This record gives sequence, C-alpha cells and structure tokens, in this order.
Amino acid sequence: MKKISKIAVLSSGGDAPGMNAAIRSVVRAAIFHGLEVEGIEHGYEGMIKAEFVKLKSKNVRNIIQRGGTILRTARSEEFKTEEGRQKAYDNLVKRKIDAVIVIGGDGTFRGAGIFSQEFDIPFVGIPGTIDNDMFGTDFTIGFDTALNTVVEAIDRIKDTASSHDRMFFIEVMGRDAGFIALQAGIATGAEAILIPEIEGQAEKLKEYLLNESKSKKSSSIILVAEGNNLGGAVEVANKVKDDFKDFNVRVNVLGHMQRGGTPTAFDRFLASRLGVAAVDALLDNQRSVMVGYKNHEVVHVPFNKTIKGNRDISNELLRVADILTI
Ligand code: ADP
Repeated sequence: MKKISKIAVLSSGGDAPGMNAAIRSVVRAAIFHGLEVEGIEHGYEGMIKAEFVKLKSKNVRNIIQRGGTILRTARSEEFKTEEGRQKAYDNLVKRKIDAVIVIGGDGTFRGAGIFSQEFDIPFVGIPGTIDNDMFGTDFTIGFDTALNTVVEAIDRIKDTASSHDRMFFIEVMGRDAGFIALQAGIATGAEAILIPEIEGQAEKLKEYLLNESKSKKSSSIILVAEGNNLGGAVEVANKVKDDFKDFNVRVNVLGHMQRGGTPTAFDRFLASRLGVAAVDALLDNQRSVMVGYKNHEVVHVPFNKTIKGNRDISNELLRVADILTI
C-alpha cells in the first residue's frame, strides 16, 4: 500500500457547528504525524474545480469555537458523474494527495465510497450533520449544538405561549429524522411531538386536542419535525385551526438558525476526538470507513454500512416521550 505523506480535508453536504473543530483537529493531527495537509474548499465541487489551500497549524488557530466551516461546503451534482470524479481524481494526483478525509453526512460518504472504488485513493469520513441520522455512531458533529439552540428557542417561545394562552406549532429541522424534535421535545416538556418515524400521529394529535379543548389548558407547545408525514408546522396548524376554532394557534418555523452558532463543548470535544481518529485510521491503513462514536468510544464503520444502515430512533426515548407528553 502506498505510503501516505500528504492528505486533504474537506467539508461537504449541509454545514454543522463543530465542522471547524474537526478541520482543526485533522490538520493538527496530520502535522503531528509529519504529514502535509491541504484543505479543499466547497467540498467535492472544489475537488473538481481544484480549489486547494495549503493548511498549516496557524491557519486553524482560533476556529474551534466558530460555527459553519472555514472550508465552506457545497452540494456537487458533477461529482455524481464519472467525468466529474475523473476530474477530481486528476486534481488530487496533480497535487500529490495520497488520501482524503471528508466531513459530512451519508451523501458525502456515498460519494466517497464510490470514488475510492474507482480510484486508488483512500477516504476516511467524519460524521458532520445536525440531524444525527447516521448509522454507526451515537452522535454526529453538530447535533448537540442544534439541539441546544432549539431548546433555547422553545424556552423563549414558551414564555410568550403561556403569557398569551397560545398553542404554538414549532417546526424543527430533520429531513427524514426526528432526533432533534424528539430530544428537544423531551428537554422542553413539549405537549406533543410529531416525527417521521411514528405512525398514527394524526389520531394521537386529535385525541390530545380534544382533551385540551375540554380541559381548557392555557398554552401548549407542539413540536413538528420538518419531515413528518402530516406536513410541516404551517400545514398541521392550519388543519387544527379549521377543526378547533377556539385554540389560539401560532406557528414558528425555526429554519436555518438551527444550523449556525458556536458549537457546544460536547461538539468541540467530539470533533477533536474524531479528527485525530480519522488521521490515525488512515495511518493504520483503514479505507472507506467512518470514524464514529459509540458508548463513548471511537469506532470504525465501513461506508457501505453507514449508507445502507438505518439509524432507528431509540424505543426507550420514544417511551419517555410518550409518558411525558400526550
Ligand atoms: P450529506 O453529506 O449532508 O448527506 P448530500 O446528500 O447533499 O449531503 O451529499 C453531499 C455530496 O455528496 C453531494 O452533493 C454529492 O456531490 C456527493 N454524493 C452524494 N451521493 C452521491 C452519489 N451517489 N455518487 C457520487 N456522489 C454523491
């Protein structure tokens, strides 16, 4: 196997707080092991367009606490084509890059897996997405920060909900996954949580609303994951407004504010550990694996498992939510 002396790092897919801490960790760990490091801007798009930047230890100073990603991120349709990946490969060869560390979600790992089957350049992945929907790791970088941001926002909305006797439908991110909604719902004491993983939500919500209209409870918070099967918060709220004219209904879509902001201590710590682990994995000749975090230990999970595997929502958490909500 070819000796690794120069690596590249990129961030790809949706940005997540803590990506900078991961970049910093990769760069410093690589330098510690005597490797050269280059950053690739705009993810796979930058690999195709040769957007390389040399990274020294000082380039990653003072970024551990910054949200977003200094390397920027992008979605690349061209990387999904053979010609696009060929261009990307040619650029890596031109820059004498022996291996690549990618920070992103399952789409990013799918691209990495395909690329390293076609070309002899090893890839290792670090899970970075606020959704926490990655198989093989208990946490993805950015989830803890997003969760805390959502909890803080809901606490504020609760103040006004209770002062005005309002029912708030709050929409949170999570395309196909309800991790943010479920955990934020538990942490804020929401009255109901609508997530994509659960069937029979319409009936449960109706039952709750009927009880509410009888008991004249003054205010409530209903969390809606954006990907749930009853629609977004606006749709669900409109339906409720039609069916229950007495409720004082309001809607709040939290949107992109959930993606930004200073990473929590946990996300910085996770990113720092996984960055070091990713460089270690490359030097140990591991290929096409994600470094993840399970039961407080670093683990290595093949890309094809992270892509195919479905990260189930914890039954125990669902039970807690069930007992404590409607
Ligand atoms: P995430 O990594 O957050 O899931 P995306 O799903 O947008 O984000 O994936 C990030 C990028 O990974 C895509 O823009 C694309 O360049 C690359 N990618 C995703 N799926 C594939 C694929 N099947 N083949 C090649 N590249 C892919």
